[in-house]
Amino acid sequence: MSNKEYRISNKEFFAGKKVLVMGLGRFGGGVDVAKFVCNASAKVIITDLAGAEQLSGSLGQLKEFADIEYHLGSHNPADFERADVIIVNPSVTPDNEFLKLARQNNKFVTSQINIFFELCPAPIIGITGANGKSTTAALTAHLLKNATYEIRHTRYENVWLSGNIGNEPLLAGMEQIGAGDLVVLELSSFQLEQLAQIRKAPRVSLLTNLTPNHLDRHGTFANYCAAKENIFKFQEPDENYPAVSIFNAEDKVGSEWFEKHKGQTGRICIKFSADDVSEEIRNVFLLPGRANLSNLAAAIAVGRYFGVEDKAITKCLPEFKALPHRLELVAQINGVSWYNDSDATTPESATAALEAFEQPRIIIAGGYDKNLSFDEFGRQIAQKAKAAILIGQTAKKIANAIEKKLATEATEKSTKIEIVNSLAEAVDLARHLAVSGDVVLLSPGCASYDMFDNFQHRGQEFVRLVREISG
Ligand code: ADP
Repeated sequence: MSNKEYRISNKEFFAGKKVLVMGLGRFGGGVDVAKFVCNASAKVIITDLAGAEQLSGSLGQLKEFADIEYHLGSHNPADFERADVIIVNPSVTPDNEFLKLARQNNKFVTSQINIFFELCPAPIIGITGANGKSTTAALTAHLLKNATYEIRHTRYENVWLSGNIGNEPLLAGMEQIGAGDLVVLELSSFQLEQLAQIRKAPRVSLLTNLTPNHLDRHGTFANYCAAKENIFKFQEPDENYPAVSIFNAEDKVGSEWFEKHKGQTGRICIKFSADDVSEEIRNVFLLPGRANLSNLAAAIAVGRYFGVEDKAITKCLPEFKALPHRLELVAQINGVSWYNDSDATTPESATAALEAFEQPRIIIAGGYDKNLSFDEFGRQIAQKAKAAILIGQTAKKIANAIEKKLATEATEKSTKIEIVNSLAEAVDLARHLAVSGDVVLLSPGCASYDMFDNFQHRGQEFVRLVREISG
């Protein structure tokens, strides 16, 4: 049974088949897949390189499915040989040796996102980019949802928000989605690589911006761009609707791709810019910084396409609060504002966070090394921060980048640079350095895996440490 011969046209496809879930993971994706195929009466085997202890949270959620077979701590080639269908976690690289073996044996290889795209009855709005994906997806869903009640002429019933944003199970929630609904999905480059295998893309696709990220996995920026461009490449108009492609006019890659795709038959290309947002709408928007205005402009572009009017936007926007770990105000202690921006896992997102404030800034940065350049981030810190407290694998690299800029560029400021061993030490040092009127910002510019389970764990630790100060 090869991928070419079969399409998944309904849930019954899985009934009675041996399904191997490759990668259970700790973030809910594997659990969602496993529940879905168990409920579809498949015979399920789960394999993961991590052991039972590391996966205990996910395993706990699957207790009720007593028939699942597990192979944890390693992969067993025999599982790949006896499975009919293999459902691959997005973190598995396409050149994985077990996947090669499966393909050689003509196994049907698919993924959570691919199954969703095959079976979802509603139009999908897909949001990708290097930075701002979750915020833009959440804002888009917020505007569309409110418009459902505000505007009579909307053509859709419910609005769903899911995907890489991870707050709702994708497949387990599918039965509730109707053809008259809209689905807003945040899509990662890894998921877009998987979708390209079945040549599928959203009805409406949006790129927030594109700068180098995940080069540890993609190798080069060109490869990363190619993965992201799949979101536009495989868009298909149907008899009722065009393909809608939305780009950021202020982004280099976004502008290039707008020029490349505009004028194609069956495709509508739209550009957005932070400058488009009217004064009236800006005034009721609570998130700080120009980067968030850009995210709002993106969401408005989608909203307008679906008929959302400015008066509905102005009405519902004040209710939209920052997502956790994205420039989230944790506390104000003795005149110092502490912000948790743990989700800033690229140098550009941490730069955007620095730009969001006028006050003297102390930044806590550094983390897992994804082979990204810190030159520009170093320059921004040298220009904008009064102190940089650095942690993790990349601490020295970032310190070097800041020092280089302080040495070569005429800047009147002197940024204090300190490398410390833990987030607790960083918070403690920040507390000593900060004076009333300062902003302390955890905006690492790096992923967290060198010291934490994930960015949420890092953010929660920061919030706990800050709350300890306020007693
Ligand atoms: P993503 O889902 O792409 O990681 P988020 O919306 O979760 O993006 O935001 C992650 C971090 O990136 C935020 O903490 C913020 O500091 C920064 N950020 C948000 N929007 C943008 C943007 N448009 N450009 C650059 N950085 C941004």
